[in-house]
Amino acid sequence: MNQIAPRGKTDGLYDRVRHLVPEMEWETFVEDIRAIETLKRERNAVILAHNYQTPEIFHCVSDIRGDSLALAREAQNTDADVIVMAGVHFMAETAKMLNPRSTVLIPDLKAGCSLADSITGADVRLLRQRYPGVPVVTYVNTSAEVKAESDICCTSGNAKRVVESLGTDRVIMIPDEYLARNIEAETGIKMITWAGHCEVHERFTPGEIERMRADHPGLVVLAHPECPPEVVAVSDFSGSTAMMDDYVRDHKGGRILLVTECSMSDNLAVRYPQTQFIRPCNMCPHMKRITLANIRQSLENMTHEVTLDPAMASRARRAVERMLAI
Ligand code: SF4
Repeated sequence: MNQIAPRGKTDGLYDRVRHLVPEMEWETFVEDIRAIETLKRERNAVILAHNYQTPEIFHCVSDIRGDSLALAREAQNTDADVIVMAGVHFMAETAKMLNPRSTVLIPDLKAGCSLADSITGADVRLLRQRYPGVPVVTYVNTSAEVKAESDICCTSGNAKRVVESLGTDRVIMIPDEYLARNIEAETGIKMITWAGHCEVHERFTPGEIERMRADHPGLVVLAHPECPPEVVAVSDFSGSTAMMDDYVRDHKGGRILLVTECSMSDNLAVRYPQTQFIRPCNMCPHMKRITLANIRQSLENMTHEVTLDPAMASRARRAVERMLAI
């Protein structure tokens, strides 16, 4: 064994993730973790990590953790000179939009999102022409260009509140068709939808959930609202990753199936060891492009900087800030 691993373990970090990260794997992480901590101090940088990041990123180097909404709020408030987004590209754009003073870095430019890729600003303009006067609510999982064409943004955590705040009987809700259908079922407000889907959540099926219930008596099923409505219908609770976190915190123990991306259960298992997390899960290939090694490179080389056209960013910011004000 080399010298680095034992010292890495004694600083307490390994204790956080020892149930998830084998010792041999940890040894490969330690050097990057130390280098990242040093670089953060030198650059006055913070790392924002989405709930779908792997435990060694989420629990060992990130400063701010959460769902898209929490990361957007924190990006707005931080006085760091550099923000590294351990998430996907649209999240880095949102951080830049809300904090233009900071340099925003994404460790891998290919960390995209099937929802964000499903729609363009031109598509939104066409929808407006087809449905004049109907407000456009845009999920944050979109490019800044699409946000700039929207009236207001939403996340999976506040979509119901945002839609109800508009006081209309119809809204254009883009691009996640399933989120829109799930919110329509909750609110009774008619949704004009777009055929965008999350490639992680669309793969879950009601049959899979029923099989898991048969195999694990007493199972409580929490589904993300990006899942198809038939999946949400056979679940016990539906909510954003932050709402899942709150649910697990408030209902200590038991057997829980989180119908979402794989790292969510891993990350909650660190904080709630008394809860038994039953998996299957689906992995997001975009989130998994972010690694300790490319976070380190990102801070060493100040890559890849996310920039936005100021006029477009200002229009997009309006839609995001309108959401944050609700
Ligand atoms: S989990 Fe789905 S919505 Fe989230 S980044 Fe991956 S593809 Fe996009």
